[in-house]
Amino acid sequence: MARRKKIYEGKAKILYEGPEPGTIVQYFKDDATAFNAEKRDVIEGKGVLNNRLSEFFMTGLGTVGVPTHFLKRLNMREQLVRQVEIIPLEIIVRNLAAGTMAKRLGLEEGEALPRPIVEYCLKDDKLGDPLVSEEHIFAFGWASQQDLDDMVALALRVNDFMSGLMYGVGIKLVDFKIEVGRLWDGDFQRLIVADEISPDSCRLWDIETGQKLDKDVFRRDLGNLADAYTEVARRLGVLPANATPIIKPTLIN
Ligand code: 5GP
Repeated sequence: MARRKKIYEGKAKILYEGPEPGTIVQYFKDDATAFNAEKRDVIEGKGVLNNRLSEFFMTGLGTVGVPTHFLKRLNMREQLVRQVEIIPLEIIVRNLAAGTMAKRLGLEEGEALPRPIVEYCLKDDKLGDPLVSEEHIFAFGWASQQDLDDMVALALRVNDFMSGLMYGVGIKLVDFKIEVGRLWDGDFQRLIVADEISPDSCRLWDIETGQKLDKDVFRRDLGNLADAYTEVARRLGVLPANATPIIKPTLIN
């Protein structure tokens, strides 16, 4: 059997050439990294959970008219997605102060923000994904004004959708990052949500207890990461209500 071609291996995912032109297979690894890969571990079951959760969020976004790269889940760890040109920016939306923003501006974690705040980081591991301004983005040609307007509009729609979804299961969406890809259709292009949306890329706090249910559990040594992601999946109905902390997750089709 011919081996499929690996296109790219990142910290949490591997991309393979897809079965049709314009498609990619996205494989979710169990590897967890933080602080620009200075901290790393393998969390059994994380890839399976993120594959399923990203499918759930991207499918939901599709139903409310937010375009994404997601086509279909192939198996426990892989999904078929559209091939796009990734714009080299991370778009972060924040509803409450936390993480690097709280630190940078001397805010209390959990402090309400006057409104959702959008930030941009350059996707560059060697530089630790530095925060950049619109001036940098336009001057260095990473994206045009129109691209950025479209990216912000997408990110705010993702925020509205995800905030509501999470609120419904007793979870606050504190912040998240998305990546956006350029899809060409002849001479025309449109921007769509790409990469993944999962507890790796969001901050999720239980509304009642404040318990963290996201990658901060790993970053800050707060307990078992797979247990936290299992809880998110269970509340959303992605795993059965009686799901036990991950040994081998059972998927509901
Ligand atoms: P912060 O800037 O506070 O570290 O992160 C803000 C939000 O964006 C958090 O939800 C965090 O998980 C997400 N985020 C920022 N950078 C990255 C990244 O490089 N990878 C992932 N998976 N998420 C990120």
